[in-house]
Amino acid sequence: MHKKLMLALCLFVWPAAAQRIAIRAGNLVDPAKGTVSKDQVIVVENGKITAIGAGVAIPKDAQVVDLSKQWVMPGLMDAHTHVTFEEIPGKAPFEAMYLKQSTAFRSLQGVHIGKVLLDAGFTTMRDVGNEADYACVELKKAIQKGWVDGPTLQCAGKIIGPFGGQSKGMPEEVGGFWLHEYIDADTADEVRKAIHQNIYYGADVIKLATDNSDYFYTEEEIRAAADESHNAGRALAVHVYGGRAADNVIRGGADSLEHGFALTVEQLKMMKEKGVYLVGTDFPEAHLAGLNPSNETLADAKKLGDQIVERLKNANKIGVKMAFGSDTVTGMPGRTRADMVFDYLAVWKAAGVSNADILKAMTTNCAELLRVNKERGAIAAGQFADIIAMPGDPLQEIETLRKVNFVMKNGKVVRAAK
Ligand SMILES: [Zn+2]
Repeated sequence: MHKKLMLALCLFVWPAAAQRIAIRAGNLVDPAKGTVSKDQVIVVENGKITAIGAGVAIPKDAQVVDLSKQWVMPGLMDAHTHVTFEEIPGKAPFEAMYLKQSTAFRSLQGVHIGKVLLDAGFTTMRDVGNEADYACVELKKAIQKGWVDGPTLQCAGKIIGPFGGQSKGMPEEVGGFWLHEYIDADTADEVRKAIHQNIYYGADVIKLATDNSDYFYTEEEIRAAADESHNAGRALAVHVYGGRAADNVIRGGADSLEHGFALTVEQLKMMKEKGVYLVGTDFPEAHLAGLNPSNETLADAKKLGDQIVERLKNANKIGVKMAFGSDTVTGMPGRTRADMVFDYLAVWKAAGVSNADILKAMTTNCAELLRVNKERGAIAAGQFADIIAMPGDPLQEIETLRKVNFVMKNGKVVRAAK
């Protein structure tokens, strides 16, 4: 037989051995149970966890990662991010970003912010829009191709809302420039069409913003959006603060309310009853002040900051399902996007949420809301190997999450422990 042909056949019959990694985990944190198991071995093959336990043998050909002095847990998730968006600093209006930044710029910004967050331990993120012309979708493709390292992304595409998107008070003659970021949809049929457009261009989740003005979606319009999203296997996330608009969102069948700063105890109870998630985007007061630093807004920031803590406290007491969501879109001098996201931990602590429940909100709860719990959110056989480690126990001190020094995503080490 021809030599070359024989070689080709050999390669076909005996493919190269899959790369195996064995992790020695000194302390394995299980966020679902709030427990720590000692001296576990995690075997990773082709991006997924194949075995885990104290007595698991390390395969001979495996590359060994020694985290025996570390605390190891599933990668973190954030259900409300804007990876391709950062507010233009200074006193520029919110709308300036749609006017001054191209989709290409936004995608490249996402490369940078995505890497910062991945290195900090966020292996999965749900991006809820403000991505110009599908900048997040393009970033997601680049990450999937392995061109750049970034978290596993779910993208929303353009945010769907009643006329005007999230712009305010623009003169009629400038036209609908917000369509760079939003889709105007003012009836149930228009909402359905907008959802089709987003899915066509690559959306994994549907995002509505309902109460930017005095008009907002009816219960029937929300129900149309929920049905259309669910038929296509996607979750429906709705930006809403409170009031009658929030009643409609809860009753209409949304999967999550985003923000919900003004939700009443009755509304939170209704959410608990219906199993609707709160993605509270619980802004720290300092961030709120930074959104528009004037004397007037400092007082406003304090008031809203207190309201957020109170609402989070109530939601936690009532037992509303909560998924961690940050919504960080501002920059602060000398601080990374990840530093700012971790600032939310103090707000959750101030509201009396236990460290175990905070970790759950950042892993298993997010995974359920994102509909990926069968494949991500836990360290278990069959799950993708999204694994992080740090030199202390986050169940004892939640701020230890800031010290994440090892990150594996889909079985690839993207940040090695020092
Ligand atoms: Zn947001």
